Amino acid sequence: MIYDYLVVGHGLAGAILTCFLEKAGKTVLVIDAPKENSASRVAAGLINPVAGKRFAKSWQVDSFLPAATSFYQEMEARYHAEFFYRKPILKLFSTPEEQNNWMGKSTDAAWEGYIETTHLQLPTSEYVHQELGGLLIQQGGYVALRPFLDLREEDLKSRGAFRSEAFDFSQLQLVPEGVKYGGVQARKIIFCEGAQGAQNPFFSWLPFSLNKGEILDINVPDFEATYIYNKAVYVVPLGQYQYRVGATYNWRNLEEALTIEAREELETKVQDILKKPFEVTKQYVGVRPAVRDRKPLMGLHPQNPQVGIFNGMGSKGVLMAPLLAQQFIAHIEQETALWPEVNIVRYLSLYLASTSNT
Ligand SMILES: Cc1cc2nc3c(=O)[nH]c(=O)nc-3n(C[C@H](O)[C@H](O)[C@H](O)COP(=O)(O)OP(=O)(O)OC[C@H]3O[C@@H](n4cnc5c(N)ncnc54)[C@H](O)[C@@H]3O)c2cc1C
Repeated sequence: MIYDYLVVGHGLAGAILTCFLEKAGKTVLVIDAPKENSASRVAAGLINPVAGKRFAKSWQVDSFLPAATSFYQEMEARYHAEFFYRKPILKLFSTPEEQNNWMGKSTDAAWEGYIETTHLQLPTSEYVHQELGGLLIQQGGYVALRPFLDLREEDLKSRGAFRSEAFDFSQLQLVPEGVKYGGVQARKIIFCEGAQGAQNPFFSWLPFSLNKGEILDINVPDFEATYIYNKAVYVVPLGQYQYRVGATYNWRNLEEALTIEAREELETKVQDILKKPFEVTKQYVGVRPAVRDRKPLMGLHPQNPQVGIFNGMGSKGVLMAPLLAQQFIAHIEQETALWPEVNIVRYLSLYLASTSNT
């Protein structure tokens, strides 16, 4: 059988790319080594249109958000399942300076549709420390990625389009018409390996800047929140008094082991948001496939155009991947241009340096 595409890796990036390839009428075989703590399986799955402490709009959010919303809604309808939860985010101010900083920016028309209200004061709450007020951010929410990935995997398996195995590079053959691998042939192979992509022999020249994240599930008796709370960490209501809290960032130690330091850091930050006692029910760890310039990595290999990469989603994969997958497919199939910020060509000098060293 000759496939149009082999996709290696079925985290968020590979899964979404595969959905859009199939939608474009392409035949796809997915190869994925199951990984219980892949970034996609531990992520909180948040979508937040407002980035960081500086109150900037998240990069290209006006383009990413409509594409993400319609993609996850379409998937929910297709699988008769709920995994996309739209919830306002209450960003609590930590200091009067932060309040002032926001007030200086709040009149900008670009915020229209994203900020519902600025509260300089919120009513006293029995559950939440909200004395300095906060911003109510619209169009936020989260995607429960595990159920989405499991449904897709099941669907692909039922059609014989999914192999649960580690990709063996020694079996890959590049041929003029594409690639051969394990008894099959394909026009293209696209690597969506997340953090493991940093070791991919075709793309190890790309400047990944991997970072480890840890996250907690907690139980807060009798507290059912309507918002996602954010102050240094996110507290995401999952229902039935369960919350997911995250996340930590660690660039120095990428060992995928749970740490007491991360748990304590998250617990302290939750105590700064919640007034009530809580119980930690689970802790997770994963490695984010982030990049030096904090932008994704997409494109075909400079010398082997039958080999591509779709990776580098960093901490915003849920928001970015649906639009970027469509752009990548259009780039391959119709030769449309990629945004220069995401195209791996921006690092061509690193590739040339790597080949001149060998
Ligand atoms: C703690 C934490 C919290 C996060 N929170 C958020 C959030 O709230 N919102 C958000 O948007 N993002 C968040 N992220 C980031 C998000 O998880 C990533 O951007 C995204 O999941 C990356 O998806 P991926 O498919 O590229 O990689 P992964 O999820 O790592 O998937 C890669 C897959 O490829 C497989 N694979 C790799 N190499 C091979 C091989 N050689 N052969 C076969 N299979 C292979 C792996 O087993 C895995 O299944 C978070 C990440 C972490 C760690």
